[in-house]
Amino acid sequence: MRDLSGLIQLLLTLLIFVPFERLFAARPQRIFRRGLLTDVTFLLLNGWLVTVGLIVITTVAILVNRSILPSAARQAIDDLPYLVQVPLVIVIADLGVYWAHRMLHDVPAMWHIHAVHHAVEELDWLAAVHQHPLDVMFLKAGSLFPLFALGFSTEAIGTYVFVYYWQSCLVHANVRLSYGPLRHILVSPEFHHWHHSSEMAARDKNFAGIFSFYDLLFGSIYLPKGQTAKTFGVDNPMPSSYLALLAYPFMVWASRFKRHDPSST
Ligand SMILES: [Zn+2]
Ligand SMILES: [Zn+2]
Repeated sequence: MRDLSGLIQLLLTLLIFVPFERLFAARPQRIFRRGLLTDVTFLLLNGWLVTVGLIVITTVAILVNRSILPSAARQAIDDLPYLVQVPLVIVIADLGVYWAHRMLHDVPAMWHIHAVHHAVEELDWLAAVHQHPLDVMFLKAGSLFPLFALGFSTEAIGTYVFVYYWQSCLVHANVRLSYGPLRHILVSPEFHHWHHSSEMAARDKNFAGIFSFYDLLFGSIYLPKGQTAKTFGVDNPMPSSYLALLAYPFMVWASRFKRHDPSST
């Protein structure tokens, strides 16, 4: 959060989600829950670090658009009206989020970055920001790189960013919402709560951000009927302060490297 519009957005989010979670709570939980201050720090400071990554991602993607994409394809996308671009942008971006997120789980070295997000034990809307900046950058590369490389309009991409922000807050919110039959099409809070579950059966499942049909399609959906996720977090102890969480993946990588380095024995 770096400007007045960011502050207004935050206040609006607070005004919507705090009462929403009181009225439809999935689990009894205090507003001032464990780790709240750390999450506020993530909210205030992460944006500065992520911006650096975003500049690199969009610059390279625009270069790809100008130098590699055939001009006929560029023109065809350019000619699409805003109302056609928006659904296309959301479908393409969420496919990128799905695979980037799945890589963060499947590639052991990358998991240490993403473990920071999964360290949250009391989920609520603010847990959406509890992410290592490298994690945010990688997920944004998955979603935004193809959009800028294909040359969609900034208005359509901006609409996706807006939708994704509210969707992120909603799916982390401590609310009881399952979407009924639509739960196999759209990502609900119930769906993403299972993604954070500490239960073995739910591990490495439900990667999509907006469309749960991607998990259905790629065989990673986990939505047991009539049940909800109860406990969250990872097996290993995680640090609790912002700076220690930023350092966490680097500490793990350094210790692994040391263990494999013959000169260190
Ligand atoms: Zn995850
Ligand atoms: Zn999450």
